[in-house]
Amino acid sequence: MGEFDLIARYFDRPVRRSPLGIGDDCALLQPAAGMQLAVTSDMLVEGRHFLSTVDPRRLGHKALAVNLSDLAACGARPLAFTLSLALPAVDQAWLAGFAQGLFALAGEHGCELVGGDTTRGPLCINITAFGEVPAGRALLRSGARPGDDLWVSGTLGDARLALEAFRGTIALPQAIFEAARLRMEQPQPRVALGQALLGIATSAIDISDGLLGDLGHILRRSGVGASVQAACAPGLLAATGAGLQLDETLLQELVLAGGDDYELAFTAPAAQRDDVTAAAARAGTAVTCIGSIAATPGLRVLDAAGLPLPRQFAGFDHFR
Ligand code: ADP
Ligand code: MG
Repeated sequence: MGEFDLIARYFDRPVRRSPLGIGDDCALLQPAAGMQLAVTSDMLVEGRHFLSTVDPRRLGHKALAVNLSDLAACGARPLAFTLSLALPAVDQAWLAGFAQGLFALAGEHGCELVGGDTTRGPLCINITAFGEVPAGRALLRSGARPGDDLWVSGTLGDARLALEAFRGTIALPQAIFEAARLRMEQPQPRVALGQALLGIATSAIDISDGLLGDLGHILRRSGVGASVQAACAPGLLAATGAGLQLDETLLQELVLAGGDDYELAFTAPAAQRDDVTAAAARAGTAVTCIGSIAATPGLRVLDAAGLPLPRQFAGFDHFR
């Protein structure tokens, strides 16, 4: 099977919302009047971002999900995406599974594949996603203000729990492992929540490298500090009710600095608490207030007694 047959069979689907899809030199996009394009790109490299044994359907899902998560963090509505693939060989079963997972998530969000590139090489997947957001109203990292509440969506730490189980540093009962692994391999981007928070949240980021590390980006860009109540951070969905006993220090590490969560961290004025909970209810996503923004720079992580935790938590960095 040649390059063009491969594209036609697995990736060329009719587009409805974009004026021109796959097949020409460029795709054409038309954001609605008064809307800005939000553009984001994320690359997944075999062995670095995913294990070679992962189910290709889950990989197709995740490759798009991590991009939709960035659109969500800006409050953008997904519109279209491009897919650039390096493949070591044409493996039709793999391609069929990958395309199935990819288009299932794309369909859920009305996001159309409009172009890309296909080449031979070590397995690598790059997606660029385009969304639209009312001009001038995108949620940015730079808008947090002293006195704002600090919130996170969903739960944290499951993906890292699964990664540690894969690495063999933690042994998990099978049911907990499968639940955590699903969170790692098939994250749900908080697209509806991001849009529901437009006009309410003052800043937002999606959590890909660990809560505290990503929160640090908001603090730097906004020129503020924060305190976080560690005990309030919503952790480990996979272990809820399952009676998993983890060492307290390890649990904190997973929840506060685990990574690959794809939840949203955001700030909103304390006076708008009810608006935040109403937006979360509309979006069908749980949110938890975990702290507050202060004028004093720095990130203070407090225990249940309000005392600073003695440990440092580093965010993920590919080159450290
Ligand atoms: P060009 O050489 O002009 O860059 P290509 O020959 O690489 O175009 O691709 C042919 C068409 O197929 C283009 O419209 C391109 O956007 C699309 N395409 C290539 N690879 C993919 C892919 N993996 N997914 C979706 N569209 C693709
Ligand atoms: Mg090309």
